[in-house]
Amino acid sequence: MPVSKRRPFKRPRHVPATDYEVVIVGAGAAGLSAALLLGRCRRRVLLCDGGRPRNHFSPAVHGFLSRDGIRPHELLAIGHEQLKPYPTVEQRQNCVSTATKDPETGIFHLTLDSGRALTTRKIILATGVIDILPPIKGMHELWGRGVLHCPYCHGFEICDQPVAVYGTDKSVAGFALLISRWSKDVTVCTDGWTGMSEHARHRLKRHGIAIYEQPIRELVGRRNHQLHHIEFKDASTLPSAALFIHSSQKQRSDLATQLGCRLLQRSGAVWVDKRIQTSVAGVYAAGDTTPAAQQAIIAAAEGAQAGISCNEQLTREECA
Ligand SMILES: Cc1cc2nc3c(=O)[nH]c(=O)nc-3n(C[C@H](O)[C@H](O)[C@H](O)COP(=O)(O)OP(=O)(O)OC[C@H]3O[C@@H](n4cnc5c(N)ncnc54)[C@H](O)[C@@H]3O)c2cc1C
Repeated sequence: MPVSKRRPFKRPRHVPATDYEVVIVGAGAAGLSAALLLGRCRRRVLLCDGGRPRNHFSPAVHGFLSRDGIRPHELLAIGHEQLKPYPTVEQRQNCVSTATKDPETGIFHLTLDSGRALTTRKIILATGVIDILPPIKGMHELWGRGVLHCPYCHGFEICDQPVAVYGTDKSVAGFALLISRWSKDVTVCTDGWTGMSEHARHRLKRHGIAIYEQPIRELVGRRNHQLHHIEFKDASTLPSAALFIHSSQKQRSDLATQLGCRLLQRSGAVWVDKRIQTSVAGVYAAGDTTPAAQQAIIAAAEGAQAGISCNEQLTREECA
């Protein structure tokens, strides 16, 4: 079927003139999905990305319907490719540095790292998070291959192999029990933390999970960045195919803070309502940046929801 390239609608007089109708910040699974949805609505969209997605350290994306095991950059390349038929979507490799909202007009003013200033009626923040790893030798080098964060993403690949679970607070016991679904050879490593309750110790013991409380000296990997063994400061070692950790996180961008969006106190995630709108009208957030489960397919779903919510709100404003 031939696709019309004409500008779809004339802007009604009461709608303010802006460079774009929607600016999407971040072109991971969430941002690309939002751009696809809005391109299909023939919205004037700018999709900006100034860096790398969170999982670029990983060899594969697992659990993504129809793309299980695809390499992270290939998944995104398909996403970019599939935006090409939509002429109203512009893609740029730029960081969005600043964002403010004009309280009188509701228009957003953004600047890119190139210095370019632009205006938009809506913003979708799909900017993701940064993982903060414990300062242990080998942790960064093995991240995404020998050091893993999520059994839903990587558990199947280490099935029935010896694995360790790192944690220095009480959440480590529940995490280790979760991992025991994939392997019966699980060891908890608390890296010097000795505060585990008797109840937690008992539960772990009942499920055959050992506890190593001595501080870790180093993670020793193989050439392919898989884990070989863990070395402790008391010179003992633990052979292990992988170390699971719950990394701390922070928002990759401070745009939500600049715009005055509410962040959740404990996690620092950007609060959103059921339409994926933040506490600031006209600012939407999708993907790892929100409190939802951090999976690529969930990020893509949230991006699609943000696109729908933006289009419907823009339509309401235009048809007032
Ligand atoms: C090691 C590892 C392995 C993983 N494996 C899996 C897996 O197998 N399966 C799975 O489902 N999930 C996996 N995940 C989780 C998955 O990576 C995330 O859920 C997913 O990437 C979230 O997508 P997103 O679009 O929200 O964020 P991201 O993919 O992080 O994309 C955000 C983008 O926004 C850009 N950005 C940030 N700030 C700005 C700015 N100011 N201006 C312009 N651009 C900006 C960033 O550079 C980035 O490209 C893994 C995560 C890690 C860390």
